[in-house]
Amino acid sequence: MANEHAPLTVALEQLDLAAKKLRLDDGIHKILSQPKRSIMVSIDIRMDDCTVGVFKGIRVQHWDVKGPFKGGIRYYPNITVEEVTALAMLMTWKCAVADIPYGGAKGGVCCDTKKMSLGELERLTRRYVSLIADYLGPHRDIPAPDMYTDAQTMAWIMDTYSQLKGYSIPESVTGKPVEIGGSEGRTEATGRGVVHCIKKAAEVTGLRLKNATVAIQGFGNVGYHAAQAIHDIGCRVVAVSDSTGGIYCAEGLDPARVLAHKEKTGSVQNFKGCTNITNEELLEAECDILIPAALGNQIKRKNANKIKARMIAEAANGPTTPEADRILFEKGTCLIPDILANSGGVTVSYFEWVQNLTREHWSLEEVNRKLESKMTQAFDDVYKLSQEEESDMRTAALMLGVGRVANAIRTRGLWP
Ligand code: NAD
Repeated sequence: MANEHAPLTVALEQLDLAAKKLRLDDGIHKILSQPKRSIMVSIDIRMDDCTVGVFKGIRVQHWDVKGPFKGGIRYYPNITVEEVTALAMLMTWKCAVADIPYGGAKGGVCCDTKKMSLGELERLTRRYVSLIADYLGPHRDIPAPDMYTDAQTMAWIMDTYSQLKGYSIPESVTGKPVEIGGSEGRTEATGRGVVHCIKKAAEVTGLRLKNATVAIQGFGNVGYHAAQAIHDIGCRVVAVSDSTGGIYCAEGLDPARVLAHKEKTGSVQNFKGCTNITNEELLEAECDILIPAALGNQIKRKNANKIKARMIAEAANGPTTPEADRILFEKGTCLIPDILANSGGVTVSYFEWVQNLTREHWSLEEVNRKLESKMTQAFDDVYKLSQEEESDMRTAALMLGVGRVANAIRTRGLWP
């Protein structure tokens, strides 16, 4: 029997739900159930100790009917093609919900970045790109950062792709450092976008944000910037965590000081004035808003009833299982789904690509203004549909995303 929490099982279940609600044509449903292309490569590199390291690399391109494939690359041990396929599918719906002209893709390399040197990571990245380069490109498939990859990784990707083509192609990847064509505000975009959604959700649910308490699982790129943005609007971040565990402080934490501590010690734990907690305790902590910003499958049947937050904003991809979704909906928890909540990252990636294609550079103010406007529109579209359908916001977001992609397939037709 398939694992009910396996990301691909969940993604297909979500597609089936949207297809049923939309009364989708069987043919289009069948098309969208499969990725257009899955690429598996073996990445052989010289390790620092002169031995040979062999790593599994994956790139899954789900569907590109509305524009080039777009999606992050994740470096993580034990990543599977099924998981990457599920994440690629989510990207297709996410780009459609954000109303940006991209399809969905995702990449992954099975490796433990914590055990690798910078030189090994660079060689791994360049070799991976060289193996999939025929399927990448600014009008074909544009990678971006995800878990355990960052702006430096994107710089290596851009350089390798450009070297292979013989000229500089900054528009081949997003999330690059600003000095080589990256966009202002890209690093913070996903976290900021999550907070724009929380502000809109607070308006419609009547949650007072001043002094509202927030717990955040994951203190990486997304978790940290979400913490900073929500702290800046007057909420109290009472708990944060990373892969080593978490911390809790009822009076609230200063995210910048916690980051400095993490950079010095390698962990958020043992921060002065805080109690150490586990990741499980963080999810169940006393708070108004919970932001999962790490891995998938964190909120499940086992703990959904113990979650005290009135609002959950899914900064991570796939943090809630369908069973937990049902429990939370019945409890009246306001859940802002991943394909809406974390779409700020791909939205500013789109801005970066547009700037690269037109050889422009927008100011941070302009990027942030455009981001807020896109997030507000996406939230309003999803919320309105959820009201019309009397459904939870995940179902509405899936209906919106799947519906837009299905319409585009119908309009373009099949070839030949
Ligand atoms: P990151 O590598 O910068 O940070 C990941 C964080 O998760 C780290 O703090 C790490 O310690 C923590 N973590 C790892 N394992 C954990 C565990 N078992 N329990 C608790 N914490 C754990 O990655 P990121 O870019 O911040 O991505 C986080 C999530 O957001 C992922 O689900 C990713 O797919 C999603 N996301 C990222 C972006 C983006 O722009 N980077 C965009 C959309 C969605």
